[in-house]
Amino acid sequence: MAYSLNQKIKDLEPYEPISGTYKIRLDANESPFSYTDEIKEKIAEAVKTIDYNRYPDPMAEELCEAFADFYGVDKKLVTAANGSDELISVIETSFLMKGEKLLFIAPDFSMYKFYSSICEAECVQINKNPELEITADEMIKAIKDSGAKCVIFSNPCNPTGQGLDREAIRKIVSSVDALIVDDEAYMDFWDQSMIGETENYDNLIVLRTASKAFGSAALRLGFAVANEKITRAMKAVKSPYNVNSVSQKVGTIIYREKEYFKKSLSSIVYNRDLLYNGLRNCSCFTDDFRVYPTVTNFVFVKTTMALDIWKYLLSKSVAIRYMGEYIRISAGTDEETAFVLAEIENYLKNLKKN
Ligand SMILES: *Cc1c(COP(=O)(O)O)cnc(C)c1O
Repeated sequence: MAYSLNQKIKDLEPYEPISGTYKIRLDANESPFSYTDEIKEKIAEAVKTIDYNRYPDPMAEELCEAFADFYGVDKKLVTAANGSDELISVIETSFLMKGEKLLFIAPDFSMYKFYSSICEAECVQINKNPELEITADEMIKAIKDSGAKCVIFSNPCNPTGQGLDREAIRKIVSSVDALIVDDEAYMDFWDQSMIGETENYDNLIVLRTASKAFGSAALRLGFAVANEKITRAMKAVKSPYNVNSVSQKVGTIIYREKEYFKKSLSSIVYNRDLLYNGLRNCSCFTDDFRVYPTVTNFVFVKTTMALDIWKYLLSKSVAIRYMGEYIRISAGTDEETAFVLAEIENYLKNLKKN
């Protein structure tokens, strides 16, 4: 009876987003829209052709082609995965040797740090300024000073909602030898993607996901786009049958549904603007409510009342994300966005009276 869990895993807790059921879910930056009945019909037909006794296509060729067509990139540069989460894990565990340095820019997506603790990379963290911004020059300096082998960041950033433009990313990638992993999970909501430029660099990986703008979080589909050399390595180190046949089939259909995508995207952006403007107006009730600019599908707010507001909204069956001195709220449907705004306004108004 001498077995004990090792140091790096013994205190880890399983990831649990939030428990309980809520009428309105604005906590995970998902799309509020599921597929149309028409698309669901197409899927139902397509899955009938799956050979469930056979392993999936290890390279997910058809899916990668549909993805590549959608974004106008070469399918030879695309690797599909079981969510971009898998890609983050594969990159951190395979592209870094034990003890090599991995650079993060806080605040950023929590999974980067989580996987690095398992792969035993040495983490270096730099912080954004109080506006939650960082410049290309500051990043280049940090990469050079630290000797980091790899830098991973979300652009635009989850949770801050802000981003670096293409020119800034180009400058970073071309100024350092480190591998730059540009996680563009929210780039469908902005227009500064590097997805078409990966062949120009020997050190750039762009990550994309079907989980946000494509309303397909249930499928677990993520993609890496990089030059051929990196792509070959990525395909060699991922687990062979990482994307199941059902997700490959459904994903292929979804990436061909340009109209569905365009419609839900414009509705999400419309509601994101409503949410942002509504929250900005809430600042008139208190100085303790700072709303950051956003180019994503969510809005990030700094307030010392974060926990109280989160609890208040839960009591109204609305889930948002609570993060210490911040809250993060995803854009919902027209009704959901209106409801959460009205409730926050209510909360802040009553505060003033007391
Ligand atoms: C949501 C999100 C992802 C998506 O992960 P999947 O595993 O593809 O669902 C990746 N990166 C960031 C920054 C995210 O917020």
